[in-house]
Amino acid sequence: MQKTEAVRHAEIAGAGIGGLATAIALAKRGWSVTVHERASTLRTFGAGIYIWSNGLRVLKALGAYEQATAGAHVGPQFHTRDHNNTTMEEIPINGPADARLITILRETLINTLVDVARQNKVEILTNSAATGATPEGELFLADGTVRKADLVVAADGINSAVRDSLDLLMYRKHLGYGAIRMLIPRAVGDVPASDTNRYIEYFTGTRRILYTPASATDLYVALCCSADDTAGLKVPSDRALWTESFPHLANLVARFGDAGRWDAFEVVKLKRWSKGRVAILGDAAHAMPPYLGQGGGCALMNGLGLADAVTGAEDVASALVDWEARERPMTEHTQDTAERLGDMNFWPDDIRSQVLKITGKSREIGAERMRTARHIPTAANLDV
Ligand SMILES: Cc1cc2nc3c(=O)[nH]c(=O)nc-3n(C[C@H](O)[C@H](O)[C@H](O)COP(=O)(O)OP(=O)(O)OC[C@H]3O[C@@H](n4cnc5c(N)ncnc54)[C@H](O)[C@@H]3O)c2cc1C
Repeated sequence: MQKTEAVRHAEIAGAGIGGLATAIALAKRGWSVTVHERASTLRTFGAGIYIWSNGLRVLKALGAYEQATAGAHVGPQFHTRDHNNTTMEEIPINGPADARLITILRETLINTLVDVARQNKVEILTNSAATGATPEGELFLADGTVRKADLVVAADGINSAVRDSLDLLMYRKHLGYGAIRMLIPRAVGDVPASDTNRYIEYFTGTRRILYTPASATDLYVALCCSADDTAGLKVPSDRALWTESFPHLANLVARFGDAGRWDAFEVVKLKRWSKGRVAILGDAAHAMPPYLGQGGGCALMNGLGLADAVTGAEDVASALVDWEARERPMTEHTQDTAERLGDMNFWPDDIRSQVLKITGKSREIGAERMRTARHIPTAANLDV
């Protein structure tokens, strides 16, 4: 039942993709919103990010699409290559019948969301760490303040303090794998000219290199390896070691910068996505390994879906239960598919190569993998 009343207020922990998207979506629906960010600035680290059609549709609905995608790289295909640099799979993208995929800098995405949030009168407080919440709608801050709200959103990332204060974690699974991410300038000669604009994931043994143009001038590189590959996960990365694994990428490896950030891949599942007036979303609720490039996409979709569910609802707590019922199946499909894709990290090269060359031709497997990208998010804008 719709309720017309005084402006409702939301307190959000975390100014990442999930928290900012939720803040914008709520503010656009008439809510007053305060976002608390633990860090002293709203800057993010140097890396690129893949955004598929589903995420682009949410950005459009938030009024963030034009700014976020200005200068984006739009690749023609996504290739998966084996240890001999032979293509195992080619995923067509951005054609008339394909899912869309663009890549941008994380900084561009966060800066855009911050700008759009402020244009919509969202208050963003830095140096403001949340420590917990109550189902009645209180958010506790590290400085001892208690903030009261009609809705509290925990978007405080994989180590969410707010989630844990409510005992909502079902499990957190370490996948024994991770990545170092870095940004370097694009240059001629890293890969053959025919590959320059492609997105390419190269496999050798348990190591992968992900090659991602992220603008006309920026190249995003992810070096992925097992969490016990102590030589592989060293930052600055060991160029001799990575050249030995990927001799066909020697030019690129020689240009690796000294900066880089290692993140281990994990899966997070919750008992419930809400308790009373508190909703949990983004990595705090549904972290996943990045093999589909959809962790951020799911945070965007669930933030918009959340704002749609609670706006005008008589009872915020039951609207949050409905929100979870509507959104969780697609998110769990995405998490489970991404987790399965990681299994092949540990397969012998020849077997992985043979299997992927066969599965890469399967329409059914391809459709399952693209289901999230092709999904029409709740309340999203379709004309992108
Ligand atoms: C290697 C790698 C590659 C990836 N590639 C992609 C990709 O290409 N496409 C994609 O869609 N997704 C990708 N992802 C996933 C994506 O980055 C995450 O799903 C997304 O960033 C989650 O956003 P979030 O807002 O939930 O959390 P976060 O980005 O973690 O943001 C949480 C925010 O909360 C703040 N915070 C933390 N604790 C507190 C507190 N107690 N109080 C207040 N603030 C707090 C943090 O400082 C941070 O700003 C990738 C992930 C990894 C690891």
